[in-house]
Amino acid sequence: MSEPVDVARLTQDLTSGLRAGAGDLEDFYRDLHRHPELAFQEHRTAARLAGRLRAAGYEVTEGVGRTGVVGVLANGDGPVVWLRGDMDALPVREATGLDHASTVDGVMHACGHDLHVTWLVGAAETLAAARETWSGTLVVVGQPAEEDGGGAGVMVADGVHERFPRPDVLFGQHVVPGPVGLCPHTPGLILSASDEIDVVVHGVGGHGSRPESTVDPVVTAAYVVTRLQSVISREVAAKESAVLTVGQFHAGTKPNVIPAEARLSLNLRTQSPQVREHVLAAVRRVVEGECRAAGCPVPPEVTVLPGYPNTVNDAALDQEIAAVHRELLGAHTVFDFGPAMGSEDFSFLAPEGVPYDYWFVTSTPADVWEAAPGEELTEKLDNVPGNHSPLFAPDLSVLVPGVRTLVSAALSRLT
Ligand code: ZN
Ligand code: ZN
Repeated sequence: MSEPVDVARLTQDLTSGLRAGAGDLEDFYRDLHRHPELAFQEHRTAARLAGRLRAAGYEVTEGVGRTGVVGVLANGDGPVVWLRGDMDALPVREATGLDHASTVDGVMHACGHDLHVTWLVGAAETLAAARETWSGTLVVVGQPAEEDGGGAGVMVADGVHERFPRPDVLFGQHVVPGPVGLCPHTPGLILSASDEIDVVVHGVGGHGSRPESTVDPVVTAAYVVTRLQSVISREVAAKESAVLTVGQFHAGTKPNVIPAEARLSLNLRTQSPQVREHVLAAVRRVVEGECRAAGCPVPPEVTVLPGYPNTVNDAALDQEIAAVHRELLGAHTVFDFGPAMGSEDFSFLAPEGVPYDYWFVTSTPADVWEAAPGEELTEKLDNVPGNHSPLFAPDLSVLVPGVRTLVSAALSRLT
């Protein structure tokens, strides 16, 4: 295997023309940004990606896991490397005012997945054009529905591991806020597990003027919401990280009617299976306890919906790729920011025991970062538009570095 410095140099050489040619990738990106598509509706996006991959010489299959795209470039003996980017947009009304803002009302690429697809195209084309410099098989995966629906799992269920060359290693990256051009790496746990929990509180409905003849599910559910706040603060050790949010609370139709039921939806983020199990059990206990205390006639329903697991990088692999990126982008750009509370379904694409590496690329424009209140990085981070914000607008100067990080990661295994 080559020394990291060789891979970095090779990547620099192979992408040196991109600076001038990035105009084409910028146009591709702006086109995707203008035409965002929600989970499992990424038909246009998938077709754009598939077209570029085909033109570059990949064998392309569309419709994998409904709207997913898989491009395979078999280039002799060697490992099978997967590069993955997600493609879906969000139900967010864009407020950036950019020239290339979304043309679809109420839908926006607010998580930067348009940038991820563009990076994939740039890396796929660079590596295809330079196929005499490496040996192995490159698999480029355009994944649907990361935000909603678990597209990675749907691709696996659709046989992505059987129908295409199985990966020996997988790489993925995500755009995040932060002073443009940094590349945070974490050798181990980088993203949290996410669960959704639906709760139904069954009370007894009746007239708003006669609460004594009812069991009011609104009041009971309000106690549930309040009591849940003590689960993380009182039952989870300070050294652990967990978040429990009640994102939905639905009950009632009129001010003078006490409804018969209330519905809550919770989101739980955890970073260890033990904490996850403990909090899930505590949620059940709190909901059941409050309903008993209120005298609900029927026990509540608590349903845990399948979520995303922890994303845990292979430590040795991450350290190796981080060293390559450090060489490539500058020593100050690569550092360990520790695990985030966000979640991803990327790891579903890795068969059991297959190592993967996932890192971040920061994209806040320099003037926006400078103007943000705060001194420390973490302070400023709270004051610039982040992922899912209607104001999220990555600086396009990250286009070329994001291509280079992917190309160099692939080459670290293919040369
Ligand atoms: Zn997102
Ligand atoms: Zn995302």
